[in-house]
Amino acid sequence: MQRVLPYWTAWMRAWPTPEALAEATAAEVIAAWGRLGYPRRSLRLRECAQSVCKDWGGEVPHDYDDLLALPGVGDYTASAVMSFAFGERAAVVDTNVRRVLARAIEGRESLGGAARVSERRRIDEYLPADKQQSVVWNQSVMELGAVVCTAVHPACDTCPIASECAFLAAGRPGLGERRTRPRQRFVGTDRQVRGIVLKALREAGPGARLEYRQVSALWQDAVQLDSCLASLDEDGLIVLGLGKSVSLPV
Ligand code: SF4
Repeated sequence: MQRVLPYWTAWMRAWPTPEALAEATAAEVIAAWGRLGYPRRSLRLRECAQSVCKDWGGEVPHDYDDLLALPGVGDYTASAVMSFAFGERAAVVDTNVRRVLARAIEGRESLGGAARVSERRRIDEYLPADKQQSVVWNQSVMELGAVVCTAVHPACDTCPIASECAFLAAGRPGLGERRTRPRQRFVGTDRQVRGIVLKALREAGPGARLEYRQVSALWQDAVQLDSCLASLDEDGLIVLGLGKSVSLPV
């Protein structure tokens, strides 16, 4: 959260409305995304703003299915917007929520992986019927999972629901097993190379073009570098020019 906050503040200052974001250039949003990771999301967010302007008169729709139809919006984002922005009853299902509920109510370790429809349905049954309470419930369970009922070292001693937790009562069977996803190695991956190229372009300033000799100085493995340049170009995150020079898209 702390890492994201400065980016979010700068982003909202630059583009406080869907109209403003819809008019930003691809290069501007990619540069503003900085080192947040998964830079394609910056383009999807801009597409989303463009769709909100074109199809919804600049107002974010107040309906789950309409939100889901927007570019880059999945169940999690649509539910979070419905609950936290509009105060509607919608279960916001993330890894933390799934872990807390699997442990506290079902007395088992969370299995991880993608949430099944049946699991979403079950979580929806736990959600309070009252709209206002459902929003507080979403925030509380998320927070509990983020700071108390963590994946490997849950702080059961200080947990406010310890006396009712089925997992604790059962002796915390299989604690920490089957983590949601093993942490991915980053050093040497294509993700790292792509990040290095985008960082160089951001630092070169608006409208800058880097020649291939400059780009090739960024990474030793020419084959991997070329494949990353091609994939960045394919994703619309850079423009490959003559002689493999690169620039951010306009
Ligand atoms: S008692 Fe422990 S396992 Fe149960 S919800 Fe609290 S932190 Fe999680």
